[in-house]
Amino acid sequence: MKVEILQDYGAVSERAAQVVADAIRQAPRCVLGLATGSTPVGLYARLLTMGVDFSSVTTFNLDEYVGLAACHVQSYRYFMWQHLFTPAGMQPEQVHFPDERYEEQIVRAGGIDLQILGIGSNGHIAFNEPGSSHASRTRTVELSAQTIRDNARFFDRAEDVPKKAVSMGIGTILEARRILLMATGAAKAPAISAALEGPVTERVPASALQGHDSVHVLLDKEAASRLSSHYPKRP
Ligand code: PGA
Repeated sequence: MKVEILQDYGAVSERAAQVVADAIRQAPRCVLGLATGSTPVGLYARLLTMGVDFSSVTTFNLDEYVGLAACHVQSYRYFMWQHLFTPAGMQPEQVHFPDERYEEQIVRAGGIDLQILGIGSNGHIAFNEPGSSHASRTRTVELSAQTIRDNARFFDRAEDVPKKAVSMGIGTILEARRILLMATGAAKAPAISAALEGPVTERVPASALQGHDSVHVLLDKEAASRLSSHYPKRP
């Protein structure tokens, strides 16, 4: 694992955008795995300023809520069209969201070259909650109470927060050729410490990443604050 500790959210977003832009420039037909949530917003915003040509890229998103229409402002499809696909000039044929034929679609596209990941405060990756098998594949999952609480800030009423999602599995994620994990803020520090330095266990879904041979981790100082090892710090 390559771990970089950067000054703040802006620096993490900038570095992540460089990594993604380089991947697209080197292989314009590359297959990207994309994440939603607060963490990658800055990455997408920065990427859009870098003059990257998205016209031949194929994308697969990590997850989507069950029960929200694509036009719902909290659906992940809405998020992606708003933050990246529309401003990048992408077409519906280029982008994919989880459904029952997802695994087959990923294989047919040649597999994911670069998977962008955030991490939940409970250590989840995509919506693979604690207890998920590290061999899991794309499926419908129940969201944990912690995740429902974390997501409540985006909804007007607690009862509107979805309780289920369709998520790529951990086994699916581990098949990506390269993984870029981003985390910022003190709330992520315990999950990052458990994922990077704790035992590999189903209690911490992100700990499965220790078994992947090409993971690049970008952290701000707060998210890195509970790590015991010394990693390169950048301004
Ligand atoms: P966040 O979510 O980026 O909104 O913190 C990350 C996640 O739950 O995977």
